[in-house]
Amino acid sequence: MPSSRFFWFLLLVFLMFQSCKSSEEFTGYSYDPEGVTNTADKEIQFQYSRTIGVAAEGIWISNEFEGARMNDFYRVSDSLYRAVIEPENHPINNSPWYSFKMHSNSPTTINLQLSYKHGKHRYLPKLSRDGKRWTRIDSSDIREDTSGTATLTLDLNKNPLWISAQELLTYRDMVAWMDSISTATPTQLDTVGYSHQQRPVIKMTIGSAPPDHKQGVLVITGRQHPPEVTGGLASRAFIEALTADTELAGTFRKEFEIWSYPLVNPDGVAEGHWRHNGAGIDLNRDWKNFNQPETRAIRDDLLPINERPERRVYYGIDFHSTKSNIFYPIKRDISTFPEDFTYRWIEPLQEQFPETPFNVEPFDTNSPIAKNWIYQTFGADAVTYEVDDRADRQKLKEVSRQAAQIIMRHLLAEKKKRP
Ligand SMILES: [Zn+2]
Repeated sequence: MPSSRFFWFLLLVFLMFQSCKSSEEFTGYSYDPEGVTNTADKEIQFQYSRTIGVAAEGIWISNEFEGARMNDFYRVSDSLYRAVIEPENHPINNSPWYSFKMHSNSPTTINLQLSYKHGKHRYLPKLSRDGKRWTRIDSSDIREDTSGTATLTLDLNKNPLWISAQELLTYRDMVAWMDSISTATPTQLDTVGYSHQQRPVIKMTIGSAPPDHKQGVLVITGRQHPPEVTGGLASRAFIEALTADTELAGTFRKEFEIWSYPLVNPDGVAEGHWRHNGAGIDLNRDWKNFNQPETRAIRDDLLPINERPERRVYYGIDFHSTKSNIFYPIKRDISTFPEDFTYRWIEPLQEQFPETPFNVEPFDTNSPIAKNWIYQTFGADAVTYEVDDRADRQKLKEVSRQAAQIIMRHLLAEKKKRP
């Protein structure tokens, strides 16, 4: 029937239009807020840095430390208190970071409600008595409700108790770690640019071959999103494996240079942001427009590689965290250099950790994220390496170290094919 043929024709036109649209115009992932790809500066709201409390009860709360987030605090009823947690701006993805410390004049037990504006409870609280060693809150001491708040039972005394969405891995911690790596292994630290709030965007260059030796380049980025601490821990274990005093790592550093930017969003990490940088922008949506100083600095540092015949980018890894272990490789039908590299290292990694599930979700290369920029600029294969928010910390480091071993072996084999 002509009318049904016409219907199929219309459907075909519609689908063609849709598929063109999906490959040309990226407007955000399903979990992104509207307007995420408009990366021009937005206004952000600063939290007041202060120690406040209910003097009559002698209960105190503070956000006066790096990486803290706590916007307001008050007593709701006899033993119920409320901490209000707000993002740096909104709309924003639901990754509500909080971090604060509490104490009381005399030992007492309170109920504390975490009440989020523009978000719902997500991160299981980690507790610490010294800000360094952390434990997960006991499951009997937390109750979540359907409205998106969580209520914690906390034992307070005159010594501070840190309560944090994840253990703190602050700007200062990351810089101290980079310093420690650079004193142990020949590593050059450079400031490639400055964030909105004038914090340095630091690059670690690791490698030990003479500059004119033909070398591959491995690009590593991390911490574009401040609360993603497990991704930060994995990136450190990964880089430590590359800089280790082992035969494999030594050989690797002769054939490959590692260009690493492990703290892409220093302002967001220092200010306890939920996701954005100092101008309220998701940096991992700015790798097309480059409106932000952090992404621009890294782009401008990497671009000259294309002018250097003695350097070639082989691979890019961008570390993140989410609700499970996921690798986002480039779709297999898209041709990369080296071909299908991600798929070839994930397989042996999964074999080594059969009890740890890794999801592999291939993606198109149209979104303005770091991995895709690496591919589009250098033709190289690249991956987004997402670590489970709740991953066992020892295990995630072990997995990351093993991933580094496999990647080093595979990259060396690739380079041998093209001496
Ligand atoms: Zn992320």
